[in-house]
Amino acid sequence: MDADFDFAIVGAGSTGTSIAYYLRRFGTRVLLLDQRGIAGGNTSKSSALIRTHYSNELIAAMAKYSFDVISNFDSIGFSGFHQPGMFFPFDEDYRETAMENVEMLRRLGIEEVEIPPENIRTYFPGTKLDGFDYVIFEPHSGYADPVAVSNSFAEAARKEGVKIVPGKEVNRVESGRGGNKLHMGDGSTISSKKVILATNVWTNKLLGDSGVSRDRLLPITASLHSVIYLRRPELYQGEKPILWDPPNLAYYKMEGTSLLALGSLDPEIDNRPVDIYSNLPEAAEYDYIEDYVARLIDRIPGMGGATVVSSVTGLYDMTPDGQAIISPLDYLGFDDVYVCAGLSGHGFKLSPAYGLITSEMVTGIDPERARFDWRNFSPARFREGRLLASRYSKIGTIY
Ligand SMILES: Cc1cc2nc3c(=O)[nH]c(=O)nc-3n(C[C@H](O)[C@H](O)[C@H](O)COP(=O)(O)OP(=O)(O)OC[C@H]3O[C@@H](n4cnc5c(N)ncnc54)[C@H](O)[C@@H]3O)c2cc1C
Repeated sequence: MDADFDFAIVGAGSTGTSIAYYLRRFGTRVLLLDQRGIAGGNTSKSSALIRTHYSNELIAAMAKYSFDVISNFDSIGFSGFHQPGMFFPFDEDYRETAMENVEMLRRLGIEEVEIPPENIRTYFPGTKLDGFDYVIFEPHSGYADPVAVSNSFAEAARKEGVKIVPGKEVNRVESGRGGNKLHMGDGSTISSKKVILATNVWTNKLLGDSGVSRDRLLPITASLHSVIYLRRPELYQGEKPILWDPPNLAYYKMEGTSLLALGSLDPEIDNRPVDIYSNLPEAAEYDYIEDYVARLIDRIPGMGGATVVSSVTGLYDMTPDGQAIISPLDYLGFDDVYVCAGLSGHGFKLSPAYGLITSEMVTGIDPERARFDWRNFSPARFREGRLLASRYSKIGTIY
């Protein structure tokens, strides 16, 4: 079969655009398409926190690699990266685990600074310190603009000839001898030697519609997450670090000089599946706002003077261990169809690593010579008990 493309990437969020960027040397042989537009899915809802503090060594190494890309982004485009730093407080029970983790991160060349808990009050006067017994500060961490990063990846790929087609839905993938066919929502077909699904929570719908039986779908469920934006009281304005609050299962992202994005670290929310085709709310529900604002005020009572400005909701594509599935799908009967999905709500900061790993996988690099061995991300790990474990499994979704 004389295919239209060598690589067709379905999904143009932070994952698909990064993959397109890493495949850009194949120029016009690469297609990137999306039923919406660039970053029109969950990427646009992201808090886009960028940190290297992870508790699984492989993921931490990927976070460091990705951090280096996003913090030196000028040759690719604009990332909107801000670097106010991030506090990671732990309670006494977790001190030893966190200290071991800090050692691991330092071995990877990641800067982790132990600070006296009361230093948090320099930035956030009046902060209650219960459960904040051992505090790590990552001075290089911060947040970026996920839409700008995705557009930059896409534009850098487009400049090398990669074809980008927004507004086109793939209804079905047909795997055949010598290539694959994408059956499009408008009735047309596109042929490609290889197909890469970067389709987040929509992955199983596409696989199901392509003939995969229900019991063989990927272990990816969707959960609904809200982020509340507040205007900080005057005392707390200015550029300030991001604060994680594991005891209250919340994070407080100080955005710009006056906003605060209030998000959840609650694994119960992650593990509560929703039907993505039901009528999901587009803003945070009132009870949720009340609950999370109360957690913020419990930690920093002076934030009682903050005003709610807006909220967003988005979906996490959860897997059982909270890490991505990056794999060929030959075991499901698809030759040369690959997936990078199931990012479990922390996939923006890792998007450069996902792009690199997926591009190495689909171009046939020996996994043992690859920068990161993608076999670690195979769905077989769930059957075989090789989960990508987190040291921090009991203190919220820090991984
Ligand atoms: C509220 C919230 C807060 C978050 N905060 C953080 C954070 O602080 N830090 C962090 O690192 N991560 C965070 N994340 C997670 C991170 O944003 C995501 O993991 C990542 O951006 C997902 O990118 P993606 O490209 O895989 O998915 P998406 O952005 O959802 O892109 C998938 C794309 O596939 C397209 N698509 C699907 N099916 C088809 C089809 N059949 N045909 C054509 N196109 C199709 C969709 O239109 C969509 O554009 C957050 C996520 C949310 C929702």
